[in-house]
Amino acid sequence: MTLPKILVSACLLGRPVRYDGAAKTLHDTLLDRWISEGRVVSVCPEVMAGLPTPRPPAEIAGGASGAAVIERAGRIVEAGGNDVTEAYLAGARIALEHAVRHDCRHALLTDGSPSCGGSFIYDGSFEGRRIAGEGVTAALLRQQGIAVFSPAEISALAAALDG
Ligand code: SF4
Repeated sequence: MTLPKILVSACLLGRPVRYDGAAKTLHDTLLDRWISEGRVVSVCPEVMAGLPTPRPPAEIAGGASGAAVIERAGRIVEAGGNDVTEAYLAGARIALEHAVRHDCRHALLTDGSPSCGGSFIYDGSFEGRRIAGEGVTAALLRQQGIAVFSPAEISALAAALDG
C-alpha cells in the first residue's frame, strides 16, 4: 500500500527560500520519518510563483485573511507598498496543483506567512502584530478539502494521517 503523501513548506525542510533568504528548518522525528518514507512533497508557493529570494517582506493588508484575498476582497502588499497579490495567488494555485498531482490530503505549512500561515498571520502593519488567520495558500488548500497543519500541530497531523 502506498503511504499518503504530505505537502510541506520548503522552508520547514531546510530550503533557504524565505523572504530573508533563510530557512525555517523543523527538527522533528515525525517529519524526519515522513521524509525517509518518501512521503513529503516540498513546495514554496512564493518561489514557485517566480518571486526572488531574498524578497521584501509582505503581509495581507488591513487585517484581512487569505480567503478574502482569494475572493478579491483583500490584497497582499510588500513593506514598500508594492502590490504582490497576483504573484501570491499564483503561488497558491501552483501549490494546489502539486497537492492534487501527488494526491496530498494533508499539508504541513509554516505558520505566520501570508502564503503558508495556517493559524496566524500578521495584520498588515509590518509592526509584528499577529492576528488569527491564514495565508492564501493555506486558505486555497482548505477550500479544496486539504487539511492544513502548522508545525505546532504536527502531532495532530500524525494522528490525522493514521486515522
Ligand atoms: Fe516558506 Fe511558504 Fe514562505 Fe515559501 S512561501 S518561504 S514555503 S512560508
